[in-house]
Amino acid sequence: MSSIAIKTCAERSKNSAHLPLLAVAGLAAATATFRREEEEKTQNFFFKGDKKESVADMKAKFSTYWPRNIMILFGPPGAGKGTHGPKVENMLGIPQLSTGDMLRAAVAAQTEVGKKAQAVMKAGGLVSNDIVIGIIRDRIKEKDCNLGFILDGFPRTLEQAKALDKMLADEGAAVSKVVELEVPDSVLEERICGRWIHKKSGRSYHVKYAAPKSMKLSSDSKPIPETMLDDETGEPLMQRGDDTPTALVKRLKGYHGETVPILNHYKPNGVVASVNANQQMDGVWGEILEALKRS
Ligand code: ADP
Ligand code: AMP
Repeated sequence: MSSIAIKTCAERSKNSAHLPLLAVAGLAAATATFRREEEEKTQNFFFKGDKKESVADMKAKFSTYWPRNIMILFGPPGAGKGTHGPKVENMLGIPQLSTGDMLRAAVAAQTEVGKKAQAVMKAGGLVSNDIVIGIIRDRIKEKDCNLGFILDGFPRTLEQAKALDKMLADEGAAVSKVVELEVPDSVLEERICGRWIHKKSGRSYHVKYAAPKSMKLSSDSKPIPETMLDDETGEPLMQRGDDTPTALVKRLKGYHGETVPILNHYKPNGVVASVNANQQMDGVWGEILEALKRS
């Protein structure tokens, strides 16, 4: 395609040799614009053999005929789901759906769901299956989930996993990958208690392992809250009400008792991949990339 465009431009330039100078200059500028436009158009096409197809047509085909990429980022609180989810989101162009973020937004807006969830969340308990299943059922119908989505914090009980399977099976789909972030409980308190988040985006920071650029420490080496700002927007970061040692005990009990059995539910499907999340973030990311590849 671009070779045709270039040939056309060359022919135009050749013809221009007979025109007065000013007209030639004008034509050269027009030719450059034409070439740029042709190149831009070319970049928005895929080639299939000698045929071309627009990106929009390809996207429509993917969202109509290809199976959706449905991933679960799995792991205890503090494992790194919120750290690595946005990178998967950027790489694959499918949204990360965090039930924790959605519930926190509902609490902040004091919706009916938010009012029901508030106290149990603060204490580190689980919100009722009906509420979270309802939230996910509605959310995955949205257009941005057409090509797939990354679940973070859902499913958390076998009942939720079965409800998810059922809603996917109704459209001939299924969970395509479960990436388990393996971390010993012993490292989680430090991670959780040092975590600061940007509420709007869910971006996760840590006073020691992933400090925001703006962070300044007081004389007793504690972060000065006013200096904890999101790197991208400059907006204030906050600490979660449930990121406390006491709530973590309850959250981990729920994780081991109710959430871990979900792995055995998906293992027979051959979709579970485990990653060592007890290493530096870059190393974790490298293993996640491997886990996401087709085997
Ligand atoms: P989750 O979403 O699974 O609860 P986060 O991604 O928010 O966990 O991570 C919890 C905290 O631990 C954050 O403050 C984050 O910066 C930090 N963290 C994440 N991965 C690592 C790692 N591999 N090493 C050290 N700290 C990490
Ligand atoms: P998270 O941000 O994933 O750590 O979730 C924060 C809190 O939201 C949890 O401790 C629960 O109280 C609640 N929550 C989030 N997702 C779920 C879920 N799938 N089922 C039940 N409760 C949930």
